[in-house]
Amino acid sequence: MAASDNPLLAAADLPDYAAIEPGHVEPAIRGTLADSRTRLGSLLEQREPTFATLVEPFEAIQQHLGRVFAPVAHLNAVRNSPLLRAAYNACLPLLAEYQTEVGQNRRLCQSYERILAREGRELSPAARRVLEYALREFRLAGVRLAPAEQRRFKSLMQEIASLQSQFEEHVLDASQAFARQLPDERELAGLPGHVTARAADAARERGLDGYLLRLDQPTYMTVMSQAQSRALREEFYAAWTTRASDQGPSAGRYDNSAVLAAILKLRHEAAQLLGFASYAEFSLATKMAPDVPTVLAFLTRLAGHYLPAARKELAELEARAGHPLAAWDVAYYAERLREEKFAVSEEALRPYFPLPRVLSGLMAVAGRLYGLRFEERKNLSLWHEDVRYFDVLTADGIQGGFYADLYAREHKRGGAWMGELASRMRVAGQSSRPVAHLVCNFAPPARGRPALLTHGDVVTLFHEFGHTLHHLLTRVDYPSLAGVNGVPWDAIELPSQLMEQWAWHADVLPLVSGHVETGAPLPQEELKRLIASRSFHAGLAAVRQLEFALFDFRVHAEYQPARGPDLERILAEVREQVAVIRPPAYNRFAHSFQHVFAGGYAAGYYSYKWAEVLAADAFAAFQESGVFDAATARRFLDEILSRGGSRDQMEAFVAFRGRAPEVDALLARDGLAA
Ligand code: ZN
Repeated sequence: MAASDNPLLAAADLPDYAAIEPGHVEPAIRGTLADSRTRLGSLLEQREPTFATLVEPFEAIQQHLGRVFAPVAHLNAVRNSPLLRAAYNACLPLLAEYQTEVGQNRRLCQSYERILAREGRELSPAARRVLEYALREFRLAGVRLAPAEQRRFKSLMQEIASLQSQFEEHVLDASQAFARQLPDERELAGLPGHVTARAADAARERGLDGYLLRLDQPTYMTVMSQAQSRALREEFYAAWTTRASDQGPSAGRYDNSAVLAAILKLRHEAAQLLGFASYAEFSLATKMAPDVPTVLAFLTRLAGHYLPAARKELAELEARAGHPLAAWDVAYYAERLREEKFAVSEEALRPYFPLPRVLSGLMAVAGRLYGLRFEERKNLSLWHEDVRYFDVLTADGIQGGFYADLYAREHKRGGAWMGELASRMRVAGQSSRPVAHLVCNFAPPARGRPALLTHGDVVTLFHEFGHTLHHLLTRVDYPSLAGVNGVPWDAIELPSQLMEQWAWHADVLPLVSGHVETGAPLPQEELKRLIASRSFHAGLAAVRQLEFALFDFRVHAEYQPARGPDLERILAEVREQVAVIRPPAYNRFAHSFQHVFAGGYAAGYYSYKWAEVLAADAFAAFQESGVFDAATARRFLDEILSRGGSRDQMEAFVAFRGRAPEVDALLARDGLAA
C-alpha cells in the first residue's frame, strides 16, 4: 500500500477517522519508526549539535510518531474490534523497542549532556528543563547499563507492555461475556426507566424476552445503588468484582492471576536493574512525592483522619437498614439514606442535567475563568456519529481543540479519560496545536431526548474537561513538556480535580442545569441539598480510595521474588488498617484494577489523594477571592495550568498559593475538623 493512501500518514491536523482501517496500522507505524530512526541517525552525525539543531528537531520527530499512533490507541479504546486489537497489539512491542532504543542511546544522551553544559545558562528555563527531563528519562531507560543488562531491560519493557494490554483485554472480555436476562419486570424494581428501557432494547436486539442487563459500568453502578432485589445486586456485585479472575461467572476464562503476577515480577526486576530497591522507588523517581516513607506516612495520616468518620457512617447506615450490611448492600442503603437526609437522588436530578445544557454551562465557566470561547466544527470525519469536535479560542485565536465522545456503547472501554492526539509544538520551524480526546461513558440518550446526566456525571465531565484545558492551554513550545506531558502523575490530577470544584458551587449549578422539559434551573432548595450532600459518606469514600492506594503502593514496595506477588497478605493487612467494609472471599478486585495493572498508576494510585490535597487547597484560594476572580484564575493559568511539565510542581504551587500545600482545605471540604 502506498503511504499516500494511508490516512494515518496524512499530514492533516485532524485524522480522517472514518477512513482508518486495521490494515493501515502496522504499515504506518513501521514506516514512521523507520523514518524516525533514519532522521535521528542523521541528526546525530552533526559534529557539534546544539539545542536548535538536535533537541528541537528531535522533539518534532517524537511528536510526529505520537501523532501517527494516537488515533490507533484511541480507536482501540473507543471502537475496539478483533482486527484492530490485533493490529494495535502488533505495534506495542515495536513502539516499546523504539522507545527503549532511544532511551538507551548513549550518543544522544551524551549530546544532551554537552548541550546542557554548553548552552544551559543561555537557554530559557523551559528549554533547560527539556534537557534535564530528557536526561532523567535516559537514566530511567537504562542508558548506563552494560549491553547485556540493556538487552534484558529492553525485553522486560516489551513484555510488561504486552502483559498490561492482555490484562486490559481480559477485563473487557469478561465484562462483555456477562449479561443477565430477566423475564419479569418485577426483578428490575427500583431501576430507573432509562435503564429498563435500554435493557428491553438489548433483549429485543438478541431476540430474547423481557430484559437484558449488561455488565458495563453505568449499569453496574445503577444496579448497586438502585435495585431493590438483593439477589440481583449480589449477582452483579459478584460478576463485577470477579471479572478476569479464577472466581465468578466466567471463572478461569479470562483469568488475570498469572498476568498480574508476571507484571509485578517483571516491574520489580526492571526497577532493580536501574538500581532501585523496588518498583515503588522507581515510580517515585518521576513524581512530586519525594520517597516511599513520605507516601506511606501521607496515606496513613489521611487514614487517621478519615477512619473514625467512615466507622460512624457505616454504623448509621446499618442502624437505618436494621441489619449488618454486605458489600452489595452499602451503595443501595447509602443512596436511600442520602435521599432521606437530603431528599436528593442522583436519578431524580437527571432531568435537570441534559447534556447540551451541562456542556454549554461548563464552557461558560471556562469562558469566565480563562476568557475562552468554544466553536463546534461540523462535517469532520469521525469514528462514531455521536462524537463532536470543538475548537477552543482565546482573544489570540484558536488555541487547540478537542473531540467529545461521551456515551457508553459496546466495544468501548469503560470509564472517563482525556487522551492527547497532538501536543502544542513550536520548534525548528514546525508548529502544531494541541488536540485532545475527551471520553466519557454516560448513559446514552433514549430515543428523541437528550442524554440526561446524574450530578456525578456532571462532576466527571468537569474533571475530564480540567485535563483537557491543561492540555490545550499550555504555552510550552516543546511537546515533551507541553500540556499534560512531563507532569508528574501525582500532580497531574490537580487541574482536573480543581475543575470539579465548580460543579459543586452554588453560583455554577444554575449555569449547568436546566430541566429537560421546562428549562428551569435546579431549584434553590434542591441545590442547597445537593451541595450539603457532598460530604455525605466522605469517610467511606476516602477509606476505600486509601485502601486501593495502600494496596497498590505496598504490592510494589514490598515485592520479593521469592515470595511472589503476595497479594492476599498485603490486602489483608491493608484492610485491617483502613477498611470498614469486608468484602466476600471471592472478591478479586485486583484482577480488574486497570489503573494499576494496565495503566500508568502503578505504585501511583496514591496520586489521586495527593492531588486532591493540592486541588482543595488551590480552590480555597478561589474561595478566598471569589470563585470567578479574574486575578486568581490568571495566576493559576500563568503559574500552573500553562506550564505543563516545564516547571517543578512544588515551585509552581507555591508561586500560585504563596505557600506549600496544606491538608486543611480538603478535610474542611469533607466535613472533618482539621
Ligand atoms: Zn483525572
